[in-house]
Amino acid sequence: MKILSGLNLNEIEQITDELGASKFRARQIHNWIYLKSVREIDEMTDLSVKFREELKKAATVSDTKIKVKQESSDGTLKYLLEFPDGECVETVLMRFDNRANLTACVSSQVGCAVNCSFCATGKRGFIRNLSYKEIIEQVLTIQRDTGLKVTNIVFMGQGEPLLNLDNVLKAMEIFNENFQIGARRITVSTSGIIPGIARLAENDMQSTLAISLHAHNHETRAKLMQIENKYPMPELKKALKNYIEKTGRRITIEYLLIKDLNDTLESAKQLVNYIHDLKCNVNLIPYNPTEKNDYQKPSGNSIMRFKSLLEQSGKKVTVRLERGADIDAACGQLRGKVS
Ligand code: SAH
Ligand code: SF4
Repeated sequence: MKILSGLNLNEIEQITDELGASKFRARQIHNWIYLKSVREIDEMTDLSVKFREELKKAATVSDTKIKVKQESSDGTLKYLLEFPDGECVETVLMRFDNRANLTACVSSQVGCAVNCSFCATGKRGFIRNLSYKEIIEQVLTIQRDTGLKVTNIVFMGQGEPLLNLDNVLKAMEIFNENFQIGARRITVSTSGIIPGIARLAENDMQSTLAISLHAHNHETRAKLMQIENKYPMPELKKALKNYIEKTGRRITIEYLLIKDLNDTLESAKQLVNYIHDLKCNVNLIPYNPTEKNDYQKPSGNSIMRFKSLLEQSGKKVTVRLERGADIDAACGQLRGKVS
């Protein structure tokens, strides 16, 4: 049985060829899958009943199940999706009242090997990579369930996308070609995997690269993120400069703000020192509490003070709105299990 979700037009044509149907039928099926997000072959109403019956013998729309769906008071939806092998990941859909954008936050791996001290995903360790089909299936499932069209994608769910780069790049290509979601509406967030950044530079990636920097110096970063020992800040900076030079793109520096740890005047100064000659915007992420660590959220005042210190250096700074915290859908709260 073939799964239609995730197939490109050529692959769907192979199925219609085998059934002795015209290439036009393949185009119709492709539209039903990617643009109209049907759940069942029977919903493909411009195909004859007879052809649908034949198609149903050869293929089905999807084999991914929605195990749990939760809705936050702010409208954010969180899905726990189950793949045929029983592994689960979370996918979050964020709606911002003042914008028409619908942003899907997708996972790239089951678990994560990087194991940052502040993140719930890392606590599970690494289970496996997602295939590109499983990555795009997350967006298709959201579209099928809500009847809405996703307009933006962020690789900020579970997993480290640059440690599963083949599948992430292939998924991005499909988002581009089949979903008509432009590269500029896709953001890839990484903990700073240097070989991956180098590969994206060579590929001339036109999507936004976001770097989870989170600290103003080596010592603090190493405390927060073990990966700092493997890919330390000076080397990371070289990789980022190379990326900016090769692609011409502005990057995003993500900075997790933790009370008294990296939200002081001195940390702001050192951060400015690190990023002043990088073409970047800064996205401040107030820490979201997760179990099993002692970190605390900074106060609203200290967030604003930190923001204005960075702005004085001429950088554009945004503070990430917390979405879906009441259903554990906010950054760093995804664990990929039911309770
Ligand atoms: N692995 C990638 C992408 C997924 S995490 C990465 O680390 O960049 C998406 C973002 O959520 C990252 O910036 C991550 O550092 C942040 N995050 C993780 N735990 C968090 C927490 N408890 N509070 C706020 N943000 C967190
Ligand atoms: Fe992995 Fe990102 Fe979580 Fe770190 S923050 S453990 S890299 S998912």
